[in-house]
Amino acid sequence: MDLPDDLVLPLERGAPWWYWLAGRPALDFVNTLRERWWRNVETLVTAEDLAAWLTEANLLAEAPAVDEALLVAARELREAISLATDAVIDRSGPRARELRVIEAWLPAARLDEHLVAPAAGSAPVFRATVPEDAGRFALGLLARDAAQMLGTEQRERLRICAAETCSARFYDRSRGARRRWCSMQGCGNVAKARRHRARQSDL
Ligand SMILES: [Zn+2]
Repeated sequence: MDLPDDLVLPLERGAPWWYWLAGRPALDFVNTLRERWWRNVETLVTAEDLAAWLTEANLLAEAPAVDEALLVAARELREAISLATDAVIDRSGPRARELRVIEAWLPAARLDEHLVAPAAGSAPVFRATVPEDAGRFALGLLARDAAQMLGTEQRERLRICAAETCSARFYDRSRGARRRWCSMQGCGNVAKARRHRARQSDL
């Protein structure tokens, strides 16, 4: 879906321009760099943006502490997922470099797990909590989602929106796996209107 042409770039904050139609977190994440076909609009502009995005993406219940270094690392992970996704879609095969970046994040997705010893005579307690560095944990979840998507049959459902002026990546959950547009309300509708106009001018 298009952004306004007169948008002042770079953005100061990205939140107003996030969209959530990719069908899974790793691709919503890729879509935070918008208009990849043209001007690469960065919507993870600040560390606060990243913290808010990870929460809105439902990866965390509350905003984590995020510093500049994590923002840089997040963008690096995102671009690795993006390159690997495109290489899977066009069947050129992802490079080892990008896969290594994704793989390196997988351990961060582990929960802190403990089997807590009870007071004498009562039952032990199993506890799994989000690790202290919740920001890294959330990036780990994104890497895991990407790894499952790229490294299994799920890869057959990766798509780029068919609209010429849209760079949205999405996961096709439709039954026949023939979905072409990131959204029927947005790009799908524009294409329909265009076809309609073309038919009218043929008359
Ligand atoms: Zn689209």
